Parts: sequence; C-alpha cells; structure tokens
Amino acid sequence: MPNDAEPTVFTRIVAREIPADVVAETERIIAFRDIAPKAPVHVVVTTKTPEYRDVVELAASDPALLAELVEVARGVAAELADGDFRLVFNNGANAGQTVFHVHAHVLAGGLEEGSLA
Ligand code: 5GP
Repeated sequence: MPNDAEPTVFTRIVAREIPADVVAETERIIAFRDIAPKAPVHVVVTTKTPEYRDVVELAASDPALLAELVEVARGVAAELADGDFRLVFNNGANAGQTVFHVHAHVLAGGLEEGSLA
C-alpha cells in the first residue's frame, strides 16, 4: 500500500536530496548515521522504498526484506563496533516513531550494560 503522498525524509536521503552519512547499502536497503545519535554508533537501517510504514507491515508483507534489513544491521555493527548491537524498531507514534517509513535503529559501541534506553 502506498505511503503518504509526501516523500519521507528517508526517501529523500535515498534520492540524495538530503545529505546523509551512508554506511551500508544493498539493492533494497540503506543504512546511514542518525542525525541525533543516542549511542556511540547509532545507524538507521531502512528500506529504499517507502511502502511499509512500520515493522509489523514489513514483516507481514515481505519477511525476506525484513531479514535483509537485519542482515545489513548485523554488518553495520560488525564494521563500526565489536559486532554486538541493539536493534530497535519504534512502532507507532506513542512508542516514539516519528518517521513512518519502516526503519530500525542499530545502537552499538559502549552501550550501558543492562540499559534498554
Ligand atoms: P523514529 O523516531 O521514527 O524511530 O526514528 C527516526 C530517526 O530518524 C530519529 O532517530 C531521527 O534522529 C532520525 N532522522 C530524522 N531526520 C533525519 C535526517 O534528516 N537525517 C538523518 N541522518 N537522520 C534523521
């Protein structure tokens, strides 16, 4: 199902209309550093096309693409940190989602032990 008419900020990053520090890319996935990092390594991993608003829609419609997103996240953490990482999907506005174009946050490198924040 198509997303909202306005391109999302992530679609504009994919189109290189907005600059971003891209750290990994496949045919269908892109990963770039978050503009407001919450950890020493904080990378957004998203789909290049905007048809899925959140991870629930992506998982239901294209689980192979979700698996590809997770694999890119793994590679980012291996390349930029020690391989261990937290993978966060904010799902819905009340859970903190602000960009309704499915994406995961890879948080890694010097995370506080035991912290979920
Ligand atoms: P959400 O809150 O939807 O889970 O995550 C959206 C994330 O996108 C936020 O962490 C925010 O900092 C990041 N973000 C928003 N706009 C931009 C941008 O223009 N460039 C980059 N690199 N990150 C952005």
